Amino acid sequence: MKSADIRQAFLSFFAERGHTIVPSASLVPENDPTLLFTNAGMVPFKDVFLGRDPRPYMRATSAQRCVRAGGKHNDLDNVGYTARHHTFFEMMGNFSFGDYFKADAIRYAWTFITEVLALPKDKLWVTVHISDDEAARIWIDDIGVDPARLSRLDEDNFWQMGDTGPCGPCSEIFYDHGPEVWGGPPGSPEEDGDRYIEVWNLVFMQFDRDASGKMNPLPKPSIDTGMGLERMAAVMQGVHSNYEIDLFRNLLLAAADVTGHADIKTPSLRVIADHIRSCAFLIVDGVLPSNEGRGYVLRRIIRRAVRHGHKLGASEPFFHKLVAALDAEMGEAYPELRQTRDQIERVLLKEEQQFARTLDHGMKLLEEALSALEDDVLPGETIFKLYDTYGFPFDLTADVCRERGVTLDEAGFERELEAQRQRARAASQFGGDYGAALELEGSTEFTGYDRLEDSSKVTAIVDE
Ligand code: ATP
Ligand code: MG
Ligand code: MG
Ligand code: MG
Repeated sequence: MKSADIRQAFLSFFAERGHTIVPSASLVPENDPTLLFTNAGMVPFKDVFLGRDPRPYMRATSAQRCVRAGGKHNDLDNVGYTARHHTFFEMMGNFSFGDYFKADAIRYAWTFITEVLALPKDKLWVTVHISDDEAARIWIDDIGVDPARLSRLDEDNFWQMGDTGPCGPCSEIFYDHGPEVWGGPPGSPEEDGDRYIEVWNLVFMQFDRDASGKMNPLPKPSIDTGMGLERMAAVMQGVHSNYEIDLFRNLLLAAADVTGHADIKTPSLRVIADHIRSCAFLIVDGVLPSNEGRGYVLRRIIRRAVRHGHKLGASEPFFHKLVAALDAEMGEAYPELRQTRDQIERVLLKEEQQFARTLDHGMKLLEEALSALEDDVLPGETIFKLYDTYGFPFDLTADVCRERGVTLDEAGFERELEAQRQRARAASQFGGDYGAALELEGSTEFTGYDRLEDSSKVTAIVDE
């Protein structure tokens, strides 16, 4: 089954069961400064769950484009290392706004997986929240799941969109890719392996967490589910890695072609094929590379892709050339991608050219610093210099260091940033244009880094 067929089968299954098909919303959440990017299918429905946005339907289904490259759900560092994580992916979902609840949500998911997709039951494992006797009972008594294949977990089975917003206990479905792959079932000591892959999360939305951390009950218990399209495609196509599915094959071949590196299993090519999707779709949704907020995340992803190409020996701008392959793969499902294609290419090319000027020199400095290391920690001053002079975002340096088993002196780096800020402040006291320019530079650079990991700071940055 091709990815497109799975997408269609999912939407039809839920449409037949009274769900309205809602088109994918933008990756930039509407009117929501608490969130960096749309990171799940429920994001466009956040206010519906909260009872603030009445809709003409109580059930919806969607294929939502998602980016997880910052904030609470950040998979940037997983890309290239796991078989199942992307920065950009499509989340299939069904939603109930105060209509059906646990029993129907579980029944629908099970029917879709075991009847429509016809996956064998003995390959499936489920989890519920440690406190959720009701969900455990439904799985075991109503659905007939073997209790040995059900585990009760704590944090992993409580889902939240961000530090605030709708949340609730959840129940997840895992697929066992078989003993050739290392890993154990959820809750076991080997669960970090990639053998048992989480394919679908059913969230029993019950609370709205406020800024003080308090959980207030939602107007009505609701359902939010998310099934990763690429992960399900891997299962249906009998491959272990998401990067081996139909959608990625041509992207990887195109990446191999433009970098001149033929082995499509190379992690760097996977990183590039992943990153072209998030970068292109972020530009589709109006994000442009910059030194702050969402634009800085985009810039970091582009630079990371360019660095991986450089590592494979690409000496000319290559990244923008992949937009054509992406269009061929996804332009039909996403006409807005096709319409924006020229602009995406221009933006990427410009960013590539700009970074190319410093990448070589920066890499040289980094290589020298790495070979001169006596312990396995890269000093803060080096990280800062790479950042300030060569445009290496912190996580790009971290990405290179990780390949070498070196860690980073993050505290030292932050001290350097702070010192730079102080200098800028002092300079600005002289007044006039010169000082103002320095102040601006210092503060944008600083917030650019500041917002890397912490979605709660996005408000401040977006406002700037
Ligand atoms: P994992 O534990 O594997 O990181 P998750 O628990 O963070 O996944 P959820 O937040 O529950 O994922 O998202 C719902 C579904 O979306 C997942 O079950 C999975 O199928 C899919 N998904 C989540 N993150 C990614 C990703 N980075 N790339 C591809 N698919 C993803
Ligand atoms: Mg995750
Ligand atoms: Mg999980
Ligand atoms: Mg999950």
